[in-house]
Amino acid sequence: METELLIEQLFNTRDLSDGELIQLLDESNPIDDALFQTADRKRRAFYGDEVYLRGLIEFTNYCKNNCYYCGIRCGNRQAERYRLSKEEILSCCKEGYALGYRTFVLQGGEDPFYTDDLICEIVSQIHHEFPDCAITLSIGEKSKSSYQAYFDAGAVRYLLRHETADGLHYRKLHPDNLNPDHRKQCLYHLKEIGYQVGSGFMVGSPYQTKENLISDLRFLQQLKPDMIGIGPYLRHEQTPFASFKNGSLILTLRLISILRLMFPYALIPATTALGTIHPNGREMGLKAGANVVMPNLSPVSVRKKYSLYENKICTGEESAQCRGCLERRVKSAGYQIVTSVGHVKKEFDHILEF
Ligand code: SAH
Repeated sequence: METELLIEQLFNTRDLSDGELIQLLDESNPIDDALFQTADRKRRAFYGDEVYLRGLIEFTNYCKNNCYYCGIRCGNRQAERYRLSKEEILSCCKEGYALGYRTFVLQGGEDPFYTDDLICEIVSQIHHEFPDCAITLSIGEKSKSSYQAYFDAGAVRYLLRHETADGLHYRKLHPDNLNPDHRKQCLYHLKEIGYQVGSGFMVGSPYQTKENLISDLRFLQQLKPDMIGIGPYLRHEQTPFASFKNGSLILTLRLISILRLMFPYALIPATTALGTIHPNGREMGLKAGANVVMPNLSPVSVRKKYSLYENKICTGEESAQCRGCLERRVKSAGYQIVTSVGHVKKEFDHILEF
């Protein structure tokens, strides 16, 4: 079938077959403008020109895991490790609040130093001091009771990318002690508890096939997450994958559009990885259907150390500069930053069933 017609059918919420979706991912098909514009029509129908801000606080780069693609894996002896204290995290929030942030995302490696009690203490203090803000956690795989404890302390959102939905592909990216079914189980636990859940995957990770990407889309259709974060895989010298090439900008943008059309209600960030692979990557992401940006709120002294991949952007600027820079970028792409808490608009859910 003509690819332009497929795009229109996706707009009209027809569930495309695997083969049809692969056609949309085929880079020899010159469909970029049609796909991006159609996705933009959908995002404007659901979210207008609003772009939501999330202040990202990368509070530890210690990690007990050894994911083969990631620069802060425990096996990287050259990484310079750091941890932020509760007071430092709270002062990032204070600075962020003054800059208009109403969501704080606490992300880190899986660092046992931060016990459940300590995470709960940090979360409840942020919740107490900034009651009109949403607290998002992104600290990896935990037990259901730990997730419940963080939720009871005041966390309302959780980001945990499934990374790849295909079990065999997952095995190629991770050591044996990490398990794809366990990671998916965590996502379902988070949903059961009542979190707004974010998942997602890397585009162009080593050994990834187009079929793997279709599995990712199918998994997301089952999970129905509120937030979907994707970005290109980017190499890091001090990993076993140092010789693999970066993921593709265009494929990432196409997938953002496809996600917007398949999950019109979703909060989809134009990620830092997208801004790293191309100077205007985040603007392109917004125009392809993304509606969230996540400027860095970490202290400048630690930013370079949270190095998941090489050449990460925004590691030198103060938080206020990042905020201003992003505001200009969002405007130049034709959208506007709003400083509301920015919850998902799932009330349209009834029209989403394929
Ligand atoms: N420990 C947390 C946070 C992980 S870092 C967790 O387990 O969820 C956040 C995301 O960065 C990861 O989920 C992964 O998708 C992405 N990431 C890691 N290394 C990367 C790389 N080399 N290139 C692009 N993205 C990467």
